[in-house]
Amino acid sequence: MIDQLAPAEDLPSCCKHHGLFYPGRIRRCRRHATPEQQNLAADIDAHADELGVLNGEDWPYGPNIDVESRGRLLDWAEHHQLRLARTQCQGLHWLARGRCGVRVCNRLGHWMDHVTRWNRFGEPALILAQPYRLHGDDMVELGQLAADGLHVWVHTHGWYGWGTVAVEVWDRQAWEQHIRAS
Ligand SMILES: [Zn+2]
Ligand SMILES: [Zn+2]
Repeated sequence: MIDQLAPAEDLPSCCKHHGLFYPGRIRRCRRHATPEQQNLAADIDAHADELGVLNGEDWPYGPNIDVESRGRLLDWAEHHQLRLARTQCQGLHWLARGRCGVRVCNRLGHWMDHVTRWNRFGEPALILAQPYRLHGDDMVELGQLAADGLHVWVHTHGWYGWGTVAVEVWDRQAWEQHIRAS
């Protein structure tokens, strides 16, 4: 949880409970945010609308309360030409087939924390997970996905922040198209 990592500031409870995190991990509610903080958040939201990155959805968990992470998400999605996908799928069905027909679809493993799914030009392109850490069994599972033909990339500069690791699991074709375009 993001809250566990928040600095021990003496904040009014409105900010503590309803605030957004601004640069410096400062949490402020709408009323107590400075004009600069409010402008930063408004600019990022306007840019998200302009790009259509959220596809009509709310900011995902993490960026929903973290303005800097919103900015990082936008840069990343813009660079990869991605838009947030709408799906209830928790596993790989959506990535493989564009839909999920499983009645109770469960996530694959521990690595699937803070998961978002992304389309590129209307087609399922990748699953992004941003867990706090990866365990040995996660690495085995991800290795298997790579062996099965998906492009798997693990790095430490995801947009969620807060010490998380980024795990990108790409449809091979979508990845190759992105590489050719960039
Ligand atoms: Zn406040
Ligand atoms: Zn599914």
